[in-house]
Amino acid sequence: MYRFSRAIYRELACEITEDPHGFGALTNHERVLRACEAAIERLATDRHYFARPARTLFCDIRPYFSISAQPRVLHVIERYLTCADEFLKRQPQNGHDIYGNPLQCRATTRKGTRCQRMPLPHHGYCPSHQHLAETELEALAA
Ligand SMILES: [Zn+2]
Repeated sequence: MYRFSRAIYRELACEITEDPHGFGALTNHERVLRACEAAIERLATDRHYFARPARTLFCDIRPYFSISAQPRVLHVIERYLTCADEFLKRQPQNGHDIYGNPLQCRATTRKGTRCQRMPLPHHGYCPSHQHLAETELEALAA
């Protein structure tokens, strides 16, 4: 998966501004790379709760670019995150995410623990909890 975050970083690296008076252990280059990796990781493991990946990543890293570079930054992010999203959707759903972690239904049981059943790919709930996906859609529409 990190080829996507590396590709975003590589395309944007030459435009990252470094603050000569910056403080902290990380350079802006490292901050941008880490933000790209975090966005890709979230896309791969938490897609249902990651509503606007490109917008989120753009807001995270835009302070490290000049105003004039920002339209291109957004464009690059959108292009690669769309590719990554399509790549993930094409992966076989064999009960594990791309890192090999078992997929779990998004619902919480009455005992307060995560439902252990296998989720359906399109909404992330198991068959017994899929009514929650409908409730969610209604809440979004309202
Ligand atoms: Zn469930």
